[in-house]
Amino acid sequence: MATVPGVLLNNGVTIPQLGFGTFQVPPEQTAEVVGEALAIGYRHLDTAQMYGNEAGVGQAVADSGLDRSEVFVTSKLNNGFHSHDAAISAFDASLAALGFDYLDLFLIHWPLPARDQYVQAWLALEELYAQGRVRAIGVSNFHQQHLRRIVAEGSLVPAVNQIEVHPYLVQDDLRALDTELGIATEAWSPIARGRVLADPVVAGIAEDLDRSTAQVVLRWAIQRGDIVFPKSMNPARMRENFQLFDFALSEAQMVAITALDRGQRMGPDPDEFNVVAS
Ligand code: NDP
Repeated sequence: MATVPGVLLNNGVTIPQLGFGTFQVPPEQTAEVVGEALAIGYRHLDTAQMYGNEAGVGQAVADSGLDRSEVFVTSKLNNGFHSHDAAISAFDASLAALGFDYLDLFLIHWPLPARDQYVQAWLALEELYAQGRVRAIGVSNFHQQHLRRIVAEGSLVPAVNQIEVHPYLVQDDLRALDTELGIATEAWSPIARGRVLADPVVAGIAEDLDRSTAQVVLRWAIQRGDIVFPKSMNPARMRENFQLFDFALSEAQMVAITALDRGQRMGPDPDEFNVVAS
Protein backbone atom coordinates (compact mmCIF):
# COMPACT_ATOMS: atom_id res chain seq x y z
CA MET A 1 0.00 0.00 0.00
CA ALA A 2 1.37 3.45 -0.95
CA THR A 3 2.50 5.65 1.91
CA VAL A 4 0.80 9.02 1.81
CA PRO A 5 3.02 11.84 3.13
CA GLY A 6 1.73 14.12 5.85
CA VAL A 7 1.59 17.91 5.75
CA LEU A 8 2.35 19.64 9.04
CA LEU A 9 -0.25 22.33 9.76
CA ASN A 10 0.57 25.56 11.61
CA ASN A 11 -0.69 24.20 14.94
CA GLY A 12 1.41 21.02 14.87
CA VAL A 13 -1.33 18.69 13.57
CA THR A 14 -0.44 16.51 10.56
CA ILE A 15 -2.90 15.96 7.69
CA PRO A 16 -2.45 13.28 4.99
CA GLN A 17 -1.61 15.11 1.74
CA LEU A 18 -3.93 12.86 -0.26
CA GLY A 19 -7.52 12.26 0.78
CA PHE A 20 -10.91 11.34 -0.63
CA GLY A 21 -13.54 13.95 -1.62
CA THR A 22 -17.25 13.33 -1.16
CA PHE A 23 -18.97 16.23 -2.96
CA GLN A 24 -21.90 14.81 -4.98
CA VAL A 25 -21.61 11.36 -3.42
CA PRO A 26 -25.32 10.64 -2.76
CA PRO A 27 -26.12 10.20 0.96
CA GLU A 28 -27.56 6.71 0.48
CA GLN A 29 -24.37 5.49 -1.23
CA THR A 30 -21.85 7.33 0.95
CA ALA A 31 -21.19 4.63 3.55
CA GLU A 32 -20.41 2.10 0.81
CA VAL A 33 -18.31 4.44 -1.36
CA VAL A 34 -16.30 5.82 1.58
CA GLY A 35 -15.92 2.28 2.95
CA GLU A 36 -14.32 1.33 -0.38
CA ALA A 37 -11.99 4.36 -0.14
CA LEU A 38 -10.89 3.32 3.36
CA ALA A 39 -10.29 -0.25 2.15
CA ILE A 40 -8.07 1.10 -0.65
CA GLY A 41 -6.03 3.01 1.94
CA TYR A 42 -7.38 6.57 2.02
CA ARG A 43 -7.12 7.94 5.58
CA HIS A 44 -8.35 11.50 4.96
CA LEU A 45 -11.99 12.22 4.14
CA ASP A 46 -13.42 15.55 3.04
CA THR A 47 -17.14 16.17 3.60
CA ALA A 48 -19.37 19.17 4.39
CA GLN A 49 -22.74 19.91 5.93
CA MET A 50 -23.80 21.13 2.49
CA TYR A 51 -23.14 17.70 0.92
CA GLY A 52 -25.77 16.05 3.14
CA ASN A 53 -23.60 12.93 3.48
CA GLU A 54 -21.81 13.33 6.83
CA ALA A 55 -23.81 10.46 8.34
CA GLY A 56 -22.56 8.07 5.65
CA VAL A 57 -18.96 9.23 6.18
CA GLY A 58 -19.24 8.58 9.92
CA GLN A 59 -20.88 5.22 9.28
CA ALA A 60 -18.03 4.16 6.98
CA VAL A 61 -15.42 5.09 9.61
CA ALA A 62 -17.35 3.17 12.28
CA ASP A 63 -17.74 0.12 10.02
CA SER A 64 -14.11 0.12 8.86
CA GLY A 65 -12.64 -1.40 11.99
CA LEU A 66 -10.11 1.44 12.04
CA ASP A 67 -9.59 3.45 15.18
CA ARG A 68 -11.16 6.91 14.91
CA SER A 69 -7.67 8.41 15.36
CA GLU A 70 -6.43 6.69 12.19
CA VAL A 71 -8.74 8.69 9.91
CA PHE A 72 -8.52 12.46 9.38
CA VAL A 73 -12.00 13.89 8.78
CA THR A 74 -12.83 17.41 7.59
CA SER A 75 -16.26 19.00 7.52
CA LYS A 76 -17.40 22.52 6.69
CA LEU A 77 -19.81 25.05 8.14
CA ASN A 78 -22.80 25.44 5.88
CA ASN A 79 -23.61 28.81 4.33
CA GLY A 80 -26.27 30.64 6.28
CA PHE A 81 -24.82 29.65 9.67
CA HIS A 82 -22.20 32.35 10.08
CA SER A 83 -23.63 34.02 13.18
CA HIS A 84 -21.91 32.90 16.38
CA ASP A 85 -24.70 30.76 17.82
CA ALA A 86 -25.69 29.28 14.46
CA ALA A 87 -22.07 28.26 13.82
CA ILE A 88 -21.77 26.49 17.19
CA SER A 89 -25.09 24.64 16.70
CA ALA A 90 -24.11 23.70 13.16
CA PHE A 91 -20.85 22.22 14.45
CA ASP A 92 -22.81 20.23 17.06
CA ALA A 93 -25.07 18.95 14.26
CA SER A 94 -22.04 17.89 12.18
CA LEU A 95 -20.55 15.91 15.05
CA ALA A 96 -23.92 14.28 15.73
CA ALA A 97 -24.38 13.33 12.07
CA LEU A 98 -20.85 11.89 11.91
CA GLY A 99 -21.30 10.14 15.25
CA PHE A 100 -17.93 11.54 16.45
CA ASP A 101 -16.92 13.26 19.66
CA TYR A 102 -14.35 15.45 17.87
CA LEU A 103 -13.57 16.58 14.35
CA ASP A 104 -10.08 16.80 12.83
CA LEU A 105 -10.67 19.93 10.76
CA PHE A 106 -13.64 22.30 10.47
CA LEU A 107 -13.76 25.01 7.79
CA ILE A 108 -15.90 28.02 6.95
CA HIS A 109 -17.16 26.75 3.57
CA TRP A 110 -17.58 30.11 1.76
CA PRO A 111 -16.87 33.68 2.92
CA LEU A 112 -20.18 35.11 1.55
CA PRO A 113 -18.74 38.65 1.64
CA ALA A 114 -22.11 40.24 0.81
CA ARG A 115 -23.38 38.99 4.20
CA ASP A 116 -20.25 40.10 6.03
CA GLN A 117 -20.48 37.61 8.91
CA TYR A 118 -17.41 35.47 8.28
CA VAL A 119 -15.38 37.14 11.05
CA GLN A 120 -18.12 36.18 13.52
CA ALA A 121 -18.07 32.62 12.20
CA TRP A 122 -14.28 32.52 12.53
CA LEU A 123 -14.46 33.62 16.19
CA ALA A 124 -16.97 30.82 16.83
CA LEU A 125 -14.56 28.29 15.26
CA GLU A 126 -11.76 29.66 17.47
CA GLU A 127 -13.99 28.94 20.47
CA LEU A 128 -14.60 25.34 19.35
CA TYR A 129 -10.86 24.90 18.88
CA ALA A 130 -10.10 26.31 22.35
CA GLN A 131 -12.58 23.81 23.79
CA GLY A 132 -10.68 20.93 22.13
CA ARG A 133 -13.67 19.84 20.08
CA VAL A 134 -11.79 20.18 16.78
CA ARG A 135 -8.07 19.54 16.19
CA ALA A 136 -7.63 22.31 13.60
CA ILE A 137 -9.76 25.07 12.05
CA GLY A 138 -9.54 26.75 8.68
CA VAL A 139 -11.37 28.37 5.82
CA SER A 140 -12.43 27.59 2.28
CA ASN A 141 -12.80 29.80 -0.78
CA PHE A 142 -11.20 32.75 1.02
CA HIS A 143 -9.54 35.38 -1.16
CA GLN A 144 -6.67 37.62 -0.09
CA GLN A 145 -8.86 40.30 1.49
CA HIS A 146 -10.93 37.74 3.45
CA LEU A 147 -7.80 36.04 4.80
CA ARG A 148 -6.17 39.32 5.80
CA ARG A 149 -9.32 40.35 7.64
CA ILE A 150 -9.68 37.26 9.81
CA VAL A 151 -5.97 37.24 10.55
CA ALA A 152 -6.29 40.89 11.69
CA GLU A 153 -9.52 40.47 13.67
CA GLY A 154 -9.12 36.94 15.05
CA SER A 155 -6.55 35.38 17.36
CA LEU A 156 -5.59 32.38 15.22
CA VAL A 157 -4.31 31.99 11.68
CA PRO A 158 -6.36 29.40 9.73
CA ALA A 159 -4.58 26.05 9.39
CA VAL A 160 -5.78 25.63 5.78
CA ASN A 161 -7.45 27.50 2.94
CA GLN A 162 -9.37 25.07 0.71
CA ILE A 163 -9.66 26.67 -2.74
CA GLU A 164 -10.33 25.63 -6.32
CA VAL A 165 -6.96 24.75 -7.92
CA HIS A 166 -6.18 22.72 -11.05
CA PRO A 167 -4.10 23.24 -14.20
CA TYR A 168 -6.70 25.60 -15.69
CA LEU A 169 -6.80 27.71 -12.47
CA VAL A 170 -3.38 27.52 -10.83
CA GLN A 171 -4.05 30.27 -8.22
CA ASP A 172 -0.37 31.04 -7.61
CA ASP A 173 -0.98 34.51 -6.09
CA LEU A 174 -3.46 33.20 -3.52
CA ARG A 175 -1.29 30.14 -2.80
CA ALA A 176 1.67 32.47 -2.20
CA LEU A 177 -0.32 34.46 0.36
CA ASP A 178 -1.38 31.22 2.06
CA THR A 179 2.30 30.27 2.34
CA GLU A 180 3.30 33.73 3.58
CA LEU A 181 0.69 33.53 6.34
CA GLY A 182 1.56 29.93 7.29
CA ILE A 183 -1.66 28.49 5.84
CA ALA A 184 -1.63 25.16 3.97
CA THR A 185 -3.42 25.19 0.61
CA GLU A 186 -5.97 22.48 -0.13
CA ALA A 187 -6.83 22.18 -3.83
CA TRP A 188 -10.48 21.35 -4.52
CA SER A 189 -11.62 19.93 -7.87
CA PRO A 190 -7.96 18.98 -8.49
CA ILE A 191 -8.79 17.34 -11.83
CA ALA A 192 -11.32 20.07 -12.70
CA ARG A 193 -14.12 17.49 -12.44
CA GLY A 194 -12.52 15.59 -15.31
CA ARG A 195 -12.22 18.55 -17.66
CA VAL A 196 -8.40 18.69 -17.78
CA LEU A 197 -8.04 14.99 -18.51
CA ALA A 198 -8.27 15.36 -22.29
CA ASP A 199 -5.77 18.20 -22.43
CA PRO A 200 -3.10 17.35 -25.07
CA VAL A 201 -0.18 18.58 -22.91
CA VAL A 202 -1.32 16.44 -19.96
CA ALA A 203 -2.03 13.50 -22.29
CA GLY A 204 1.49 13.75 -23.76
CA ILE A 205 3.12 13.71 -20.32
CA ALA A 206 0.90 10.80 -19.26
CA GLU A 207 2.00 8.84 -22.31
CA ASP A 208 5.70 9.58 -21.63
CA LEU A 209 5.34 8.40 -18.02
CA ASP A 210 2.97 5.51 -18.77
CA ARG A 211 0.46 6.91 -16.25
CA SER A 212 -3.12 8.08 -16.57
CA THR A 213 -3.88 11.76 -17.16
CA ALA A 214 -5.63 11.94 -13.76
CA GLN A 215 -2.50 10.61 -12.03
CA VAL A 216 -0.33 13.20 -13.80
CA VAL A 217 -2.57 16.11 -12.77
CA LEU A 218 -2.86 14.89 -9.16
CA ARG A 219 0.91 14.32 -8.98
CA TRP A 220 1.45 17.91 -10.24
CA ALA A 221 -0.67 19.17 -7.31
CA ILE A 222 1.22 16.96 -4.83
CA GLN A 223 4.62 18.17 -6.09
CA ARG A 224 3.43 21.78 -5.69
CA GLY A 225 2.80 20.93 -2.03
CA ASP A 226 -0.99 21.21 -2.12
CA ILE A 227 -3.31 18.85 -0.24
CA VAL A 228 -5.76 17.05 -2.58
CA PHE A 229 -8.82 14.80 -2.23
CA PRO A 230 -10.14 13.70 -5.63
CA LYS A 231 -13.67 12.33 -5.67
CA SER A 232 -14.64 9.17 -7.52
CA MET A 233 -17.45 6.68 -7.13
CA ASN A 234 -15.66 4.15 -9.28
CA PRO A 235 -13.36 1.75 -7.36
CA ALA A 236 -10.87 1.41 -10.24
CA ARG A 237 -10.53 5.21 -10.48
CA MET A 238 -10.35 5.48 -6.67
CA ARG A 239 -7.37 3.08 -6.75
CA GLU A 240 -5.79 4.92 -9.70
CA ASN A 241 -6.04 8.26 -7.85
CA PHE A 242 -4.32 6.72 -4.83
CA GLN A 243 -1.21 5.63 -6.80
CA LEU A 244 0.71 8.89 -6.85
CA PHE A 245 3.82 8.19 -4.83
CA ASP A 246 5.81 5.81 -7.04
CA PHE A 247 6.60 8.27 -9.84
CA ALA A 248 7.50 11.94 -10.26
CA LEU A 249 7.17 14.71 -12.82
CA SER A 250 10.31 16.46 -14.05
CA GLU A 251 10.73 20.21 -13.54
CA ALA A 252 9.97 20.75 -17.26
CA GLN A 253 6.75 18.70 -16.98
CA MET A 254 5.70 20.69 -13.89
CA VAL A 255 6.29 23.98 -15.73
CA ALA A 256 4.39 22.78 -18.81
CA ILE A 257 1.31 21.91 -16.74
CA THR A 258 1.41 25.15 -14.74
CA ALA A 259 1.53 27.03 -18.07
CA LEU A 260 -1.95 25.65 -18.91
CA ASP A 261 -3.48 28.23 -16.54
CA ARG A 262 -6.36 30.11 -18.13
CA GLY A 263 -8.10 31.44 -15.03
CA GLN A 264 -11.01 29.05 -15.65
CA ARG A 265 -13.26 28.28 -12.68
CA MET A 266 -15.42 25.16 -12.45
CA GLY A 267 -17.23 26.60 -9.42
CA PRO A 268 -18.48 30.07 -8.47
CA ASP A 269 -16.29 33.10 -7.74
CA PRO A 270 -16.08 33.44 -3.93
CA ASP A 271 -16.33 37.25 -4.19
CA GLU A 272 -19.78 36.87 -5.70
CA PHE A 273 -21.13 33.59 -4.31
CA ASN A 274 -23.98 34.32 -1.92
CA VAL A 275 -26.21 31.24 -1.83
CA VAL A 276 -27.27 30.14 1.65
CA ALA A 277 -29.04 27.04 2.93
CA SER A 278 -32.69 27.52 3.68
P1 NDP B 1 -12.64 16.33 -8.87
O1 NDP B 1 -11.70 17.25 -9.57
O2 NDP B 1 -12.15 15.47 -7.78
O3 NDP B 1 -13.32 15.43 -10.02
C1 NDP B 1 -14.33 14.51 -9.73
C2 NDP B 1 -14.90 14.01 -11.06
O4 NDP B 1 -13.87 13.40 -11.84
C3 NDP B 1 -15.97 12.99 -10.89
O5 NDP B 1 -16.93 13.23 -11.90
C4 NDP B 1 -15.28 11.64 -11.13
O6 NDP B 1 -16.19 10.74 -11.72
C5 NDP B 1 -14.18 12.01 -12.09
N1 NDP B 1 -12.95 11.26 -11.86
C6 NDP B 1 -12.35 11.03 -10.67
N2 NDP B 1 -11.22 10.32 -10.83
C7 NDP B 1 -11.09 10.10 -12.16
C8 NDP B 1 -10.13 9.42 -12.94
N3 NDP B 1 -9.06 8.84 -12.39
N4 NDP B 1 -10.32 9.39 -14.29
C9 NDP B 1 -11.39 9.97 -14.84
N5 NDP B 1 -12.35 10.63 -14.15
C10 NDP B 1 -12.20 10.70 -12.82
O7 NDP B 1 -13.88 17.23 -8.41
P2 NDP B 1 -14.65 17.53 -7.07
O8 NDP B 1 -15.42 18.74 -7.37
O9 NDP B 1 -15.34 16.36 -6.54
O10 NDP B 1 -13.48 17.96 -6.03
C11 NDP B 1 -12.86 17.07 -5.13
C12 NDP B 1 -13.34 17.33 -3.71
O11 NDP B 1 -13.05 18.67 -3.31
C13 NDP B 1 -14.87 17.24 -3.53
O12 NDP B 1 -15.34 15.92 -3.57
C14 NDP B 1 -15.03 17.95 -2.21
O13 NDP B 1 -14.65 17.10 -1.15
C15 NDP B 1 -14.04 19.11 -2.38
N6 NDP B 1 -14.70 20.33 -2.91
C16 NDP B 1 -14.75 21.43 -2.09
C17 NDP B 1 -15.36 22.59 -2.50
C18 NDP B 1 -15.40 23.77 -1.59
O14 NDP B 1 -16.12 24.73 -1.89
N7 NDP B 1 -14.67 23.77 -0.51
C19 NDP B 1 -16.02 22.69 -3.82
C20 NDP B 1 -15.89 21.49 -4.61
C21 NDP B 1 -15.23 20.39 -4.18
P3 NDP B 1 -16.48 9.29 -11.07
O15 NDP B 1 -17.06 9.55 -9.69
O16 NDP B 1 -17.48 8.70 -12.01
O17 NDP B 1 -15.17 8.57 -11.04
